Amino acid sequence: MGNPLRDRCSAAELASNGQVIEIAEDIGSFNQLAEIVEADLAALDSDIIPVSWRARTVTGELQFGFADSEARFPAVTGRAAVEVDSVCQRCLEPFRLGLSIEPRLLLLNEQEATDLFEDFEVWELDERTLRPQDIVEELLIMALPFSAKHDNMADCKALSTTSDVSSKMRRPFAALASQMKQIEEDPDS
Ligand SMILES: [Zn+2]
Repeated sequence: MGNPLRDRCSAAELASNGQVIEIAEDIGSFNQLAEIVEADLAALDSDIIPVSWRARTVTGELQFGFADSEARFPAVTGRAAVEVDSVCQRCLEPFRLGLSIEPRLLLLNEQEATDLFEDFEVWELDERTLRPQDIVEELLIMALPFSAKHDNMADCKALSTTSDVSSKMRRPFAALASQMKQIEEDPDS
């Protein structure tokens, strides 16, 4: 049996089957995304690169159908999420970066462009068939932040007050913070 996430199929066929695809795939099977994660982690000393980064699982679901009642416009909706290993650009430590997507796409080729469906984005197909995994992969790549950072300041070594490194850095930051606070409170000064 094939894997519906990886098999190539036409958008019309997926839509008329009302295909539902459960996603539970390791990052390692998303080649381009894995390449990006690997390049990002290469900035770390090899002994702190998370060993199992390829095994982080992308989970979610895709549902194919038609956006219109006349079955003219194939569409896919769903969601997917993964925590990829990344490097915080602030403290240069590894951390888990959460990515999530909620696709709502019309699957059209170039000539079929339409603005009939405001709540869908157009996904332009350059071939007659598509691989559902490619859509998930491309959207996850687009969801990558320009500069990955710890979301929670408390987890970030560059800003935490507990580590030795940051206790040395703390005073200049604190001074800057109090200056900025003054400016905020008294913009004319
Ligand atoms: Zn950090």
